[in-house]
Amino acid sequence: MASKRGSDRKKPSALHVRKGVVGGHDGLPGGRTRSGDRNGGARRLLSVREYIDGVRAGDRVILGRAITLIESNAPAHQELAQEVLTALLPHRVQAVRVGITGVPGAGKSTLIEALGVHLTAAGHKVAVTAVDPSSSLSGGSILGDKTRMEKLAADPDAFIRPSPSGGTLGGVARKTREAIVLFEAAGYDVVLVETVGVGQSEILVRSMVDFFMLVLIAGAGDELQGIKKGVVEIADAIVINKADGKGRAAAEAARAEFERVLHYLRPATPGWRTRAVLCSALRGEGVAELWGMITEFMAAARKSGVLEERRADQERTWLRDLVREGLETMFRAQPGVAAKLAELEQDVAAGRMPATAAARRLLDEFSAGD
Ligand code: GDP
Repeated sequence: MASKRGSDRKKPSALHVRKGVVGGHDGLPGGRTRSGDRNGGARRLLSVREYIDGVRAGDRVILGRAITLIESNAPAHQELAQEVLTALLPHRVQAVRVGITGVPGAGKSTLIEALGVHLTAAGHKVAVTAVDPSSSLSGGSILGDKTRMEKLAADPDAFIRPSPSGGTLGGVARKTREAIVLFEAAGYDVVLVETVGVGQSEILVRSMVDFFMLVLIAGAGDELQGIKKGVVEIADAIVINKADGKGRAAAEAARAEFERVLHYLRPATPGWRTRAVLCSALRGEGVAELWGMITEFMAAARKSGVLEERRADQERTWLRDLVREGLETMFRAQPGVAAKLAELEQDVAAGRMPATAAARRLLDEFSAGD
């Protein structure tokens, strides 16, 4: 696993982070430095009305700028962004939100491209974004690596937005969720969210999509190594990619093995049996079938009410997380707490005071504070 993680860092996700460059496919002309955009310094901010009308009209440039606005951490931008998002909420199409994870090299970007092209040919509008855990470490500008999804990048019915850089993974998640609102308000009826398999980010993506799939390749009998069992448990489909040429037989064996394992696991979505399927993203084989399975899932989840429940739960959980984070920030910033926190933590760590008593002291301090 260690070596996989190592290569993870070196090998970018399909929408990876790179310093100092800006991708053009988000509606921002190539070559422009992001800092001007991001801070609103170089360009006039649009009015709330202009953002709303532009996004609703599917204007790619304005959609790109609206995403840049929600990605900004500046309080004034945040206020404007929330106004725009609130106004757009009722105007969203109900998109199919799909999360895609897998180790680097599994073929995620090839699959996203194949699926995306298949969908736009069928009349869908497809938005692609990513939650890249490494982007939270990069303060610089970001680039969607269009070279790995060339056809989709050139497709007028597709919109590719790279992973936001967030400061924290929570920050990246917020920006991604809000970008999804914008995509849907702009009429994108399929949203694909990619992430790389390093743990926490998969849980985050699972918490913002309807259908979640794990892309794998068959190895020499080590199908279950290198991936955490927990990731299999949150997947609605296991897609064994590269089931072509010499890899076909190994892929079929891996599929059978996964089917056996899945038999013993609780399904990620109530009422849906998680399946292991084969595909060759490179040849475009199994891609239509994969989409067929996703639409079958959506129909079943809609009918049973699971979809509505899941989405409501996701929003509620997100709200609670935001409140919890906000409270913690306020708590730590409160002068009485700030003055005592370090000392009390030391007392607790050294066994001089019970944690419960220390927590009570701090919470009393907080509630008594101004
Ligand atoms: P990612 O890191 O998961 O996004 O993986 P990529 O999509 O970049 O694919 C990694 C490599 O595997 C590339 O060289 C692809 O051309 C190749 N690849 C992807 N899908 C397939 C497939 O279905 N069959 C074969 N044979 N190769 C594939």
